[in-house]
Amino acid sequence: MGLIIRSSAIHAAGCYTTTAIRKGTRVAEYTGHRLSKRQADLSYEDSPITYLFGLGKGEIVIDGHSMAMFINHSCAPNCETEEKNGRVWIKAIRNIAPAEEITYDYCLYDGGDDEAICNCGAGKCRGTMYSREEIRRRKALQKKAHSNGASKNGSKPKR
Ligand SMILES: [Zn+2]
Repeated sequence: MGLIIRSSAIHAAGCYTTTAIRKGTRVAEYTGHRLSKRQADLSYEDSPITYLFGLGKGEIVIDGHSMAMFINHSCAPNCETEEKNGRVWIKAIRNIAPAEEITYDYCLYDGGDDEAICNCGAGKCRGTMYSREEIRRRKALQKKAHSNGASKNGSKPKR
């Protein structure tokens, strides 16, 4: 298996495979420093771009530092994430052809004011990289947000 990073139509850079990948294969591990959610919020309060991945219930996040951090979001992805014993793998959910871009559904959460607009181009694109659960939560928050003023950006980890 060979992975390369090159420019992507979805977002600046993306991760591509040079070889065919069979469904069920672990494509990459999401590695990096582990931070508490609080540390991540403080570090990335004003950053529009982060490479954070929320583990378990989200108290710990991985600050991406490997090939996997370049894998873009898609609403119609060819991979999903698998969390096992505190490690995170990007796993193929269908056979992937050589030269295809590797993608998974970020299911972002806890994003503050950022709209996290999605450019994946899939027919069933939901227009944002937030999870369906987070979209519902944000709609509910917006209803009562009028008197509260602006909130901060938030660290916006992936799942
Ligand atoms: Zn999309």
